[in-house]
Amino acid sequence: MEDEQLQQWIERVSITSFGRPFLHQARFNRRLTSTGGRYFTKSHDIEISWQQYEQFGADDVEKIIKHELCHYHLHILKRGYQHRDAEFKSLLQQVGGTRFCKSLPTAKRREPYRYKLVCTSCPTEYLRKRKMDPRKYACGNCRGKLKLLKLDLQEHS
Ligand SMILES: [Zn+2]
Ligand SMILES: [Zn+2]
Repeated sequence: MEDEQLQQWIERVSITSFGRPFLHQARFNRRLTSTGGRYFTKSHDIEISWQQYEQFGADDVEKIIKHELCHYHLHILKRGYQHRDAEFKSLLQQVGGTRFCKSLPTAKRREPYRYKLVCTSCPTEYLRKRKMDPRKYACGNCRGKLKLLKLDLQEHS
């Protein structure tokens, strides 16, 4: 599922459940774990937690989309678009959105280490989950130059 598909999905839900178009940007946020989605009042954009999609699937995410679209449409129509507003609550119920999303496992899913930074002047090594540019950093131990090595995934997953 790409952002573009999410965009089309939200546009479709907007028409079918709200009878109004979604005319702004939608995207997945891969680091958003505190909540299932977010609506930005300044840009009118919607962000959906990638983890929610990955863990709970399309049905649950569609309910989150409906929730965010309630904020979106009510805000644009200058109606009560906040959680405490009666209009928000009744629209949410009407379209079948969720008030709360399922919580993600508290211990963040462990991501394996994929890289190792090794110092070229001393035996220090640093494990890294993401690729990075070793030239931007120096060894914390001796300030020596670092080299990035890709780890065999089996080793640390
Ligand atoms: Zn909300
Ligand atoms: Zn070093």
